[in-house]
Amino acid sequence: MTIFNRKLLLGIFCFFAVNSETSNKISFAEIVELSSGNLKIVFHLDQVALINSYALDDPSRIVIDVKNTSLDSAINAQALTPIKLVRASEVGKNVRLVIDLKGSVYWKKPWQIKHKDRVDLILEIRRDRTISKNLRDIIVAIDAGHGGRDPGAIGKNLLEKDVTLLIAKELERTLKDTRGYKPVMIRPDDRFVDLNTRYQNARKLGADLFISIHADGFKLSSVKGASVYVWSEEASSITAENLSKKELTNNPEVKSKIGKLDIRDFDEDAARTLFQIAYEAKIENSIILAEKILAQLKKDPYTKMHKPNVEFADFRVLKSIDIPSVLVESGFISNPDDAKRLGGKAGRRMIARSIFLGIHNYFKDKPKPNSFMNPLPEFVEYEIQKGDVISEIAIRFGVTTEEIIKWNKLNNKSIFPGQKIQIDI
Ligand SMILES: [Zn+2]
Repeated sequence: MTIFNRKLLLGIFCFFAVNSETSNKISFAEIVELSSGNLKIVFHLDQVALINSYALDDPSRIVIDVKNTSLDSAINAQALTPIKLVRASEVGKNVRLVIDLKGSVYWKKPWQIKHKDRVDLILEIRRDRTISKNLRDIIVAIDAGHGGRDPGAIGKNLLEKDVTLLIAKELERTLKDTRGYKPVMIRPDDRFVDLNTRYQNARKLGADLFISIHADGFKLSSVKGASVYVWSEEASSITAENLSKKELTNNPEVKSKIGKLDIRDFDEDAARTLFQIAYEAKIENSIILAEKILAQLKKDPYTKMHKPNVEFADFRVLKSIDIPSVLVESGFISNPDDAKRLGGKAGRRMIARSIFLGIHNYFKDKPKPNSFMNPLPEFVEYEIQKGDVISEIAIRFGVTTEEIIKWNKLNNKSIFPGQKIQIDI
């Protein structure tokens, strides 16, 4: 594959007085045409920033508000179609980037890549004549608990880190092939990722939602069932409190970091007081998302619930200030029934399905502007993959084989990879 870069007109440069209250600065770097035909617009930042991005349609443009940041130099760049102009202005303590467009584009929510000496802020767009509005995918960060040298809870023949990764992959598969969703894996394989890196990466990847997947262990093997948690500084129940402590002390990385300077890309703790409104919305939305997932888990015939309500706990991994975040404890691998359920594909698939349906139902209440989920489509569109069978797809989406056949008029017809089918959920 050949990637040819075209560095484009940078426009006029002039320098602004340094805003003493904000240390983060932004400048325009380049616009690159990728082999896919997408245009990649790159800005440079000193540090990872809190970002709010949205699209407007008349006239067509994408706006990126970069919080607590000042302009390093004026931005006023003309570029290839469909970009008309890239411009920026300082609005209070923030920088507003505006990408003026000719027509509607499919856009990827901006993400940030940290390098040694800078952070790249990237927006990717593609002219799309099939859409009449600027649209993007919903980014779901999937966080498989533990990994690498941290096994998590240890069952008889089962490690928590393996169970969480398998559930995460199942969820990833459903999201990847469903139009309008894009999963990003915080832990893609059996590797160690520390807790701070997990939520920091969700921010850098531009996640709209953060789902952490775990399984419990307990000294009493009779204790069983799934639970759903959201973050709270003051854990609401003793169980939750014990769990969060355990989660902290069980983690070798946390132990080794105690007493050391904690250098993070973005200080979520400081941001919580700075961006109170965003934080309050995050908590509210996390609870809604958790309730939707919980409602699905309760419907699942395989899974029994450990806690009937959404629980609150000081799970650090959930503490991003603006990304709705939920932690699902899929069961106790110390319990024989739960271990059997989570050791098998069917049981794990049910957890992934409940999370997926919970996410989708969340967007029924909280439609995401500028995305394929606003308004929520009547049908979700699923792209058939190699090896797919209808009965399996039906299980993954919580519908019946007969329904899929009826909705897509598939009687006596075989399905093929790349085919798009509609599922009413
Ligand atoms: Zn865990």
